[in-house]
Amino acid sequence: MNNNNLTDKPYILLTPGPLTTSSGVKSAMLKDWCTWDNEYNSLVQDMRKRVLDVAEAGDDYTMIPMQGSGTFSVEAVLTSVVGENEKVLILSNGAYGDRMKTICDTAKVKNTIYKIEQTETYDLSHLESILKEDKEITHVAVVHCETTSGILNPIKEIGAIVKNYNKTFIVDAMSSFGGIHFSIPEYQIDFLISSSNKCIQGVPGFGFIIARKSELLKCEGKARSHSLDIFDQWKVMESGNGKWRFTSPTHVVRAFYQALLELEAEGGVKAREKRYTENQDKLVKGMDTLGFKAIITLEKQSPIITTFYAPNHPDYKFENFYSKLKEQGFVIYPGKLTKEESFRIGNIGEVYPTDIDTLINSIKNSMFWR
Ligand SMILES: *Cc1c(COP(=O)(O)O)cnc(C)c1O
Repeated sequence: MNNNNLTDKPYILLTPGPLTTSSGVKSAMLKDWCTWDNEYNSLVQDMRKRVLDVAEAGDDYTMIPMQGSGTFSVEAVLTSVVGENEKVLILSNGAYGDRMKTICDTAKVKNTIYKIEQTETYDLSHLESILKEDKEITHVAVVHCETTSGILNPIKEIGAIVKNYNKTFIVDAMSSFGGIHFSIPEYQIDFLISSSNKCIQGVPGFGFIIARKSELLKCEGKARSHSLDIFDQWKVMESGNGKWRFTSPTHVVRAFYQALLELEAEGGVKAREKRYTENQDKLVKGMDTLGFKAIITLEKQSPIITTFYAPNHPDYKFENFYSKLKEQGFVIYPGKLTKEESFRIGNIGEVYPTDIDTLINSIKNSMFWR
């Protein structure tokens, strides 16, 4: 190998996707599978069923995996579900909400946006007035945990309003599904999107959609893209008993299946949420002793990722801080807020409270600017 900087030295990823996976998940990828073989296709069917169980979704729902990163699945939903004469209201308080608008604008999906500050959540009465006034709106799309900041949006309350006005409800739960406990039917979600490499703790390679069947059936012929058509993907998968339309990311699916078994062994989503919450709690308290303050207030903060104000010191540079931490085995995330200088630390994946203790110590050793 020519690249002398490339080493196999492991580090813990505190970046929420891809994240640190278990050795069980990594080892599950050592076999090559045939994409249309029966044994593999029944694994796919079992995987789909298990995801619906995680979502506490009954027979009214189905699970559709889609090749590509999570964004491909967001795009697949927006371009397959919102028809030519329909219009989606996008709620945005961060980069992932904004991305939904970019997707719609690019694919010429009619849309409008309710955009607020990245550190705030939505005014529900304002949401109601938008739905009351703009009669063209047929769908509402929102991000659950906005990974840009780590803020948690009140999707249950939003869903209640959306359904009061009889609209289709789309939720990007990419970074919360499997890590925060909720029931899809109870939250009245019609299309939920997540991916293999977030709280289920698999490796990157595909996204998935949990769809209310009655809503999915309305999507036939609506898609603006052939490869991202979720209706067609679903139809072929149902009739072929777990066969993907095009080449399936076989190793990734096998690893994801192992990750689902490990989620169950941990005690399910509630147990996982408890571990993540402990991680996050320890992180914020530890960072506080070092003088770092979280930007999102406690009531709105998710147990997934936390944004901290960057130190207000002339010698501080994120790149140097990042490198010093990486030398000690931790990789963190740059900030993504538009107004504040910040950095982010994720706490999902194969990461335990003792790792957070070690992290806090490593951060203390990395504060070169003091
Ligand atoms: C990770 C993430 C995505 C998808 O990102 P990809 O890089 O395409 O996998 C979308 N929305 C949210 C909220 C996310 O956290």
